[in-house]
Amino acid sequence: MNPLSRLPSVDRLLSAAAISSLIETHGRALVAGVLREVLAAAREAVKQGAAPPDEAGLITRVGAGVTAKVAPKLRQVFNLTGTVLHTNLGRAPLPEEAVQALLAAARSPCALEYDIESGGRGDRDDIVNELLCELTGAEAATVVNNNAAAVFLLLNTLAQKKDVIVSRGELIEIGGAFRVPDIMKRAGAKLVEVGTTNRTHLRDFAENLGPRTAMLMKIHASNYAIHGFTHAVPETELATLARQHNLPFVIDLGSGTLADLAAYGLPHEPTAREAIAAGADLVTFSGDKLLGGPQAGLLVGRKDLIARIKKNPLKRCLRVGKLTLAALEAVLALYRDPDRLQQRVTAVRQLTRPEAQMRAAAARLLPALQQALAALPVTVEVAALKSQIGSGSLPVDRLPSAGFAIRPVGKKGGVLNRIEASLRGVAHPLRPVIGRIEDGALLLDLRCLDEGEEGAFGATLRSLRLPP
Ligand SMILES: *Cc1c(COP(=O)(O)O)cnc(C)c1O
Repeated sequence: MNPLSRLPSVDRLLSAAAISSLIETHGRALVAGVLREVLAAAREAVKQGAAPPDEAGLITRVGAGVTAKVAPKLRQVFNLTGTVLHTNLGRAPLPEEAVQALLAAARSPCALEYDIESGGRGDRDDIVNELLCELTGAEAATVVNNNAAAVFLLLNTLAQKKDVIVSRGELIEIGGAFRVPDIMKRAGAKLVEVGTTNRTHLRDFAENLGPRTAMLMKIHASNYAIHGFTHAVPETELATLARQHNLPFVIDLGSGTLADLAAYGLPHEPTAREAIAAGADLVTFSGDKLLGGPQAGLLVGRKDLIARIKKNPLKRCLRVGKLTLAALEAVLALYRDPDRLQQRVTAVRQLTRPEAQMRAAAARLLPALQQALAALPVTVEVAALKSQIGSGSLPVDRLPSAGFAIRPVGKKGGVLNRIEASLRGVAHPLRPVIGRIEDGALLLDLRCLDEGEEGAFGATLRSLRLPP
């Protein structure tokens, strides 16, 4: 007898009780599709000489296939990498106030571009314009999809077919294909590099001014630092030079923040207010880096320049939606009360979390982790770690943190990769744990594990099946 004929038909499997309940939950089309794939794979295996699986075995495979198919691709994860603003893990987690505002805007119609007072058309930038001006000292503001878009839009508006003078030391590349010279070219601006990698003087800018100059630009070198024999031109001097020649002076702050982080024990990062006070005509920064909000690019500065930028048809291509504006408005509002910023803005809270708190969390969670890894030739201990801010902010400053260090016993380094893959590989709805391997240890930094999430983290640990 042909072994293929021992496989059940599609119709027969579809009428099995377990399959009916899958159909009830996920719909007939999806379940039938997976079922056909499972049967095709089984047929292929039988042709290669495998024994035909029984009906129960096939049904289990269909169940697993359906589960895999419906699991969301945008999974929630535990960021235990030690990098707080991790671009690949979605950067800043939103404060609860912003989450609530975003949900409300998602659910119902809202006055996105509608002036409730006059009943006429409104401007979506007006939702955050006043707050941004209040918090930065600027005259006007506009918002686009991200800071890369903000830089692109301002260059395209103010410097198309013209020269933009930038210090050579600031021609940076930021992870994920943002290179200042490439953005300039695509925006239609011509880059004029002045000075040297380590030293640039005011005269380097002055000597390169010409009839085609559109602006002087400063780019905050976010993701690297040069030390030693260095010189950069102070912003106030560049602002004065620009003003003397009736040119705008523009600063891309990158991360940028609205609060003095030094007040919370973090290294000082230039604020948008300082940049405006130093004489910048336009300042751009990200919404989801140190600000701790949604992905967005914020442009603040002179009213006439912001008005020109808003008239550029590309603004329409780069604009943000209501969800972003709802979250952004809520986050900006939190900056009105610097005293409570640290508790309320999640990113700031995580960045300033006391080491003792993370140590205490590690002590609570240690037994569960030890148990999960009990069969393996590794040691697990609570360890002092160093976190970093991430997203190119303050690249050299490390924050004292605590978490776990898992080390192999003997020379079996491969075991760490196995653990790392299992922590990452847990099935939905459990949340994968993302750590980092460094200096022969698998490190799990607890800075970004909020206390309320420890239960869910424990569930992921208990689900691990790690044979010796
Ligand atoms: C991060 C960064 C950008 C890009 O900002 P996104 O919000 O990621 O688009 C641009 N310039 C500088 C200096 C940056 O640090």
